[in-house]
Formats: sequence, structure tokens, C-alpha cells
Amino acid sequence: MHARSAFRYCPLCGATLTVGEIEARRRSICPECGWIHYAQLKVGAGALIEQDGRLLLLQRARPPFQGCWNLPAGYVEADEHPAEAARREVQEETGLQVDVGGLVNAYYFDDDPRGNGILLVYRCRILGGEPKASDEGLTPTFFPPQRLPSDLAGGGHDQAVHEWRTARLAASEGEGSSERGFSRAIRAIRDSQQPSAKLEGER
Ligand SMILES: [Zn+2]
Repeated sequence: MHARSAFRYCPLCGATLTVGEIEARRRSICPECGWIHYAQLKVGAGALIEQDGRLLLLQRARPPFQGCWNLPAGYVEADEHPAEAARREVQEETGLQVDVGGLVNAYYFDDDPRGNGILLVYRCRILGGEPKASDEGLTPTFFPPQRLPSDLAGGGHDQAVHEWRTARLAASEGEGSSERGFSRAIRAIRDSQQPSAKLEGER
């Protein structure tokens, strides 16, 4: 997906935008007030929640990726810390109260029709409640790494779930489905520090 401007008119003064090259990119510019549209990534926050070695996933109730499985997640508000956004989204989508632990990884995505972005995934621990369906997340289900659904949502979710699966299966040797196994899997993901998508221009 191209980061093309969706604006035709200046959001500040209403003049018709023109296109010019600024900092080696074609950008929309307002000829009246000088406003420049810098297209930026959307930021989402999601939660890795395990119970007995199984990962909590929900089915998306709406497009895009309707019916596909994803982590509890959503967009981060402009005045909100991403970790707080993760906690809020888990509460809204599943009814669970969680404690948000550290950042697991950041996943860049370019497959969401609403725009390119990054999904920040946090480890979360259930403090209370039972997972229940919501307007945004249907059929909350804990999946073992060996039996994940094949229809995972894009937007970084498929990358995050696949990374969890690989690390969790490796950690299960010796640690089983224990909390320590989860910790080991997350350490492995953090330590790998691999860019989650192929870098443009990479040889
Ligand atoms: Zn303007």
C-alpha cells in the first residue's frame, strides 16, 4: 500500500492542496498556509495473554480481516501510553482485567487497508474476569501452539502469533506449558531482535 495522501483540501485552512517534493518524497502541500502532509504510521497495541501454555485469540467481528483471529488489540490514542492502550483494549474486547508487562516486540505491517502501521505487543497477565465476547472480539479462545487457527488476521497479528508459536514450542521443551515457559519464550523473542518484515532494499 502506498502512503499516498488522502487529503484534497488543507485541514487547517481549506485551500486545495498541491503536490511537491519535500525531503525526497512527494507530499501534499498547502499553497496558502504552508501545511505539509507527512503521512505517518498508525500505532496499535496488543496483548499476549497465556493460560496453561495457550494463547488467547479473538475472532474479528468487523472488516478488515473479518472472521479472522487476532490478539486483543486496538489503536493507541494520541494522548495514551501504548501499554495503557493494551490494557484498555483487553478490557473492552474480552472483559478481562490484566496487568501489562513489558514490550514483547513491534511488528510493522503494510497489509491493512486502513493504512500501514506498527503493532506493539505487550505481555499481559490476567488479574481477574473470564474472557467473554464483545462487539469487536468474538469467541475468545485459548489455543495451544500446536493447534492455532490458520486464518489469522493481518495488521501484524499473524507475525506476532507466528513468532509466539515458534518461541513457545521451543520453550515447551523442558518447561512445558508453565509460566516459566512463557517467560522463556518471550525472552527468546526479545533476544532475537529481528526486523519482523523484510527490509526494503535488503540484499
Ligand atoms: Zn492551508
